[in-house]
Order: sequence, then C-alpha cells, then structure tokens
Amino acid sequence: MATAIGIKGHCAHCDITFELKPWQLNAIAIEEPFDCPYCHRVLQLSCPRQLRQFKALDHWALVHPSMAVLTCVVLIVALVAEWVGLISVIGQLNVSLVVLLVHFLALRYARSRQRITLDLQAVMPALPVEHLARIACARLSQQ
Ligand SMILES: [Zn+2]
Repeated sequence: MATAIGIKGHCAHCDITFELKPWQLNAIAIEEPFDCPYCHRVLQLSCPRQLRQFKALDHWALVHPSMAVLTCVVLIVALVAEWVGLISVIGQLNVSLVVLLVHFLALRYARSRQRITLDLQAVMPALPVEHLARIACARLSQQ
C-alpha cells in the first residue's frame, strides 16, 4: 500500500478529514475498526461501494510500472522500425511523442483515481453495557 498516497478519511464523530496512515489503510484492508486520531473513537469503513473502490486501488497502483514497460517497448520498436527503414525519422519522432503523451495522461488519470476520501462510519459495540443493564432491570421488574 506504499504507492497509495493521498487517501483521506473522514471521521463521522468529529467531522475531521485526515490523511490515512499506512497502518490505518491496513486496518481498512482487513476490515478492522480503528481509532480516530483526533477524537479517539472507533471508526470503520462500512460502505460497500467505498470498500470496493478502496480495494481497486491496488489495481490502479499497477498502472505506473505497466505503462513504463509499454512505453519503453513502443520507443524501442519505433527506433528499430526507423533503423530498418519501415518508417521515416519524422514518423519515429511522432510515434515517440504520442506514446510519451499517452504515458503521462495515463499516469495522471491513475493518480486522480487514487486520490479518494473515505467516509469512515462510527462503530457501535454489539450491545453497550448500559443497554444490557437496562434489559436486566426490565427483566427483574417483571418478576
Ligand atoms: Zn474523529
């Protein structure tokens, strides 16, 4: 997750948006609740749509290395094609410029897709102690 920089979380308790640390991203990845760094209350990403978006980040992180390989291959192929006389020098220059442009556009797009803000929901304990106490009192008063 080192490549996924720029992911922010929004705390449902204190309404603060903060940059998520790697350990917090790990907690979200394994769907574990964690404490808000500001109000120290428990948070979890429970929106299925955002969870899917979060898991797709790994896939976006792969865009950078695969684009680098693709660009290198196209540049070499264009160079060889020019060398063996398949295309002109101008043609080789055009191909190189277009592939570099596509490379930077793809990286920019991938980076914009990686910059997301996750709405972290409050986690309620299954049954709070006060609630259990109230049930116990109600049962006792019925007897
Ligand atoms: Zn908070």
